[in-house]
Amino acid sequence: MGLFASLVTRAEPETVVAECRRCGTTVDADTSVCATCGSEDIVRYDID
Ligand SMILES: [Zn+2]
Repeated sequence: MGLFASLVTRAEPETVVAECRRCGTTVDADTSVCATCGSEDIVRYDID
């Protein structure tokens, strides 16, 4: 039980910022198509 608890505690949330390369709109990290301009050119940044 102790090992399991420590594994759960170590599940740190990872900050991911996703942005449309075409229009610069910030979108959800799991979004693959920009809702603003329809571009599929989404770039993601992982922030520690
Ligand atoms: Zn866009």
